[in-house]
Parts: sequence; C-alpha cells; structure tokens
Amino acid sequence: ADIKRAACVGGGVIGSSWAIQFAMRGLAVTLYDINDEQLKRSEAQMHKSLDALEQFNAITPERRGEIVAAIRLTTSMEEAVADAQFIQESGPERLEIKQSILAQVEACAAADALYASSTSGLLISDIAAKAAHPERCVGAHPYNPPHLIPLVELTSGDKTDPALLRLAYDFYQSIGKEAVLLRRECPGFIANRLQLALYREVQDLVMRGVCSVEDADKALVYGPGLRWAIFGHNMIMQLGNPGGLTGMVNMLGNSGDRWLADMASWTHQPDNWAEVAQPGVDEEMKHFPDHIGHTNEACAAYRDQMLIELLKLHKKL
Ligand code: NAD
Repeated sequence: ADIKRAACVGGGVIGSSWAIQFAMRGLAVTLYDINDEQLKRSEAQMHKSLDALEQFNAITPERRGEIVAAIRLTTSMEEAVADAQFIQESGPERLEIKQSILAQVEACAAADALYASSTSGLLISDIAAKAAHPERCVGAHPYNPPHLIPLVELTSGDKTDPALLRLAYDFYQSIGKEAVLLRRECPGFIANRLQLALYREVQDLVMRGVCSVEDADKALVYGPGLRWAIFGHNMIMQLGNPGGLTGMVNMLGNSGDRWLADMASWTHQPDNWAEVAQPGVDEEMKHFPDHIGHTNEACAAYRDQMLIELLKLHKKL
C-alpha cells in the first residue's frame, strides 16, 4: 500500500518523535493529544529534536520548515485519524487507556487503516481484545527516540492478519526503519531483553567486587560497544575467526562453558543497586574528558551528536 498519511495518537516523548520520523520521510502527519497544553509540549519537544538535527547538519533550515509544515496538531480525534492510512498510538502505558484509545480511534478511522501501538510492555492481543478490527492491530515498539534509532520491534496479536503485519513491516522499512518480527509475543521483546541480560551481568560483576561501575561502562564502550554499533553479535563472531562463526563457537568451547557456569551463580537483582550505581556513574562523569562534559546535560548533548554522526555513517540520515 502506498501510505502517505499517518496519524500519531499521543504526542509525548515517543509520539512527537514518531511525528518527526514520518514527516521527515514525506508523509502528511496529524498528531493528536488530549489538550492544548499537551500539544504545546509536543511542539516544544519536536522543535528540540529538530534543533539537534539542524545543529549537526542532518537537515537544512528549509527542510526543517517542510517537516514542521507537514505536521498538523489537533485535539480532535476525528480530525486526527479520519483520513489516516497508518495510525501510530503512543499513549500512556496502561492497558485500559490503550483499549479506550483504540475504541475512540475505531469510531472515526477507516476500517482498513493500520493501527500500530508503541507499547513497550503490553501485549497487542490484550490491547486489541475488545476491538472491532483486531486484525489490523500490530505492536510496533520503537527505540527512543524513534526519529533517530531505526529499530522497531513488530508483534502480532492472536487476531492480527499476517498480511497486515507484512504491510506494517514493509511500511516501516520504506521509511528507513529497521523492523524485526517477533514470531510470538514475549515480554520485553528482543532488544530490551538483550539490554537487561547485559545489565544483570554488570550488576553482578560490580556487586561481586570484580570491577567498578565506571570500568564496566568503559569496557563496553571502548570494547564490544564500538563493534556493536556496526554489526550484531553473531556477525561480529563470524568476522572474528578464520573459521567463521562455527570456528569461533568451537574455539570458545571449554572456556565459554566455564564462564557461563560462573555467570549462572547470579540469582537476583540486588536491592541496594541504586546506592552503588549512582556514585559509580557520578565518578565516571567526573572523569570524562572535557569534550564530552561533566554534567547530565552535556553528556546527553554529546550522546545525541554522536548518535546523529553514527546514523550518517550508517546512511540512515
Ligand atoms: P509520555 O507520557 O511522554 O506520552 C504519553 C502521551 O499520551 C502524553 O502526551 C499524554 O498527554 C497522552 N495521552 C494521555 N491520555 C491519552 C489519551 N486518552 N489519548 C491519547 N493520548 C493520551 O509517554 P511516552 O514515553 O511517549 O510513551 C508512550 C508509549 O510509548 C508507551 O506505550 C510506552 O511504553 C512506549 N514507549 C516508550 C519509550 C520510552 O523510552 N519513553 C520507548 C518505547 C516505547
């Protein structure tokens, strides 16, 4: 399907970023939120994102004008979704609110419009449980901020039409996203589970006294993190050994098994982790070189700049 008109329902952190993503890729966008105050926040947030894109030369001032002009803000659900071919819901993460938003959308939207929920933790089967058209509902979990990070994790509910899931997949790919398909619903989807598995190990290493919080972060950023910004771990292993992935798995063999046995002693998340992690991160920030900065604000600006530069290298911006 040739999707030209998208609606963003809920214009918070995620919804306003989706609006920029859609508009940057030439779609006409309507953004709905519940009142004018929220819409003002959406607008401010969008301008902040556009400032960073412009500052780091990812868009020209003219392009910025076109993006802004393509997004219409409204507190009328009907105005937002009546003409939309693709509806991206990014409302609050509560099942009853998501169900009520879907009911409101269904009252005004075309029956063949695709409906994608940004939910991080709910199942699309539950969100669409009372829907008139559950077949057109998919889970589409972005990574924050969606207008920069390409990943979107797609899930289908028990009644989703597989052809419409495919359509959603093709649509996201066509606007520069990198979509992954979950073959079945699973809490945390893929990326957050991978992150949490790693973070569980960071906690364990620090709590066992193996290393500081700062060194755990440093080991990641200046080691595997650099490669992971290029390829996934399977691919990195494939390239790391003349025998390819199979050679690497065989080579790791016994020592890998010993590491895994040691790591398996992890049992639970420590209660006092925050008390350990916070001073560790404060220390880390103190030691950053001046070009990165020593405050949350400076480090966030550095992160955003680096993200934009990396995406340019990936030819995603
Ligand atoms: P947010 O609180 O910033 O935004 C939620 C928006 O929904 C607000 O603007 C609010 O006014 C609006 N809203 C409230 N009631 C509504 C209603 N009845 N109809 C329509 N809009 C309504 O939250 P967020 O961080 O943007 O998260 C939105 C969704 O995206 C959640 O489902 C969340 O799980 C998911 N998500 C968040 C992140 C993240 O990092 N923040 C990442 C991926 C996915």
